Amino acid sequence: MNKLEDKLFKEGLIEGNISKLKKIAKVDVHNHCGLGMRFSTYNKWAGGNVVPPPKKMDGIAGIDEYIFGETAKFIKTSEDIEFLIESTVLEAIDDGVKILEPSIDCHWITLFKTHQEYFSTILKIKNKYKELIDFRPEVGFAKCVPTENLDNFLIPCIDSGLFNSIDLYGDESFDDFEKFKEYYVYAKNKGLKLKAHAGEFTGPEYVRNAIEVLELDEVQHGIGASTDDYLLDFIKERDIRLNICPSSNFILGAVSDMKSYPIRKLFDKGLNLSINTDDLLLFDSGVSEEFLYLYNHGVLDADELNEIRKMSLI
Ligand SMILES: [Zn+2]
Repeated sequence: MNKLEDKLFKEGLIEGNISKLKKIAKVDVHNHCGLGMRFSTYNKWAGGNVVPPPKKMDGIAGIDEYIFGETAKFIKTSEDIEFLIESTVLEAIDDGVKILEPSIDCHWITLFKTHQEYFSTILKIKNKYKELIDFRPEVGFAKCVPTENLDNFLIPCIDSGLFNSIDLYGDESFDDFEKFKEYYVYAKNKGLKLKAHAGEFTGPEYVRNAIEVLELDEVQHGIGASTDDYLLDFIKERDIRLNICPSSNFILGAVSDMKSYPIRKLFDKGLNLSINTDDLLLFDSGVSEEFLYLYNHGVLDADELNEIRKMSLI
């Protein structure tokens, strides 16, 4: 079966056949539930008048401008949150994703009557689709969150036992990772896998700082590490996975030319990598399409992309 999957996956890339690629097992471990579905799905649910995302955006500020001006205004109730999570899971299933680790923002807990109702809603979705996908809820929070909110919302999520991992995201002008260290230690002691966004628009110093202070198991993006061979050796020694999102990096302007996309160097260094969607609603590219995107730009060949696909299936 594995050999057949290898063959079909490589054929799918060479033929540009998305439906063939969709049939092959993949992961999406850098995905944000709030934007985890196609725009068409979201627009239909929201009434049909949502303005589509721009084709190019100016970094995180560009995302925030679009989200807070457009999509966020429709999210008001616990039922809305349930839609966001379930449609993210359904989209991943359609794409042949077998392991899904989507960040679910800890603040969403405030839209539920009780904490338990929030956790039960997520668990219900996990169980509903367990034969089709290994949905591993990830608790996420933004770098701008006040400490009291972390105590009130993040800690109960960690304590719930429902979340497999933790993620930190937002503006990369923020670099005071010490502020979150105790929460990461707490999450680690509770058995959660530790992730954080770093090196999307920033360079190796930022990535190293995040890894060392938060003791990360995985870095969301991490492409900024590619200019520092010493840091890449360090990442390899610690077997820290970099969860890469090609379309996101291009559309947000983190890279200007896909022909020189840093995943080439990261792969040649022998790093642990995965290829992911980040925000399907914004970038309109599932995991299958992301693999094809790298293939079509000549960044990696079919064997190399298949190797990344297989190494990420853990
Ligand atoms: Zn992200």
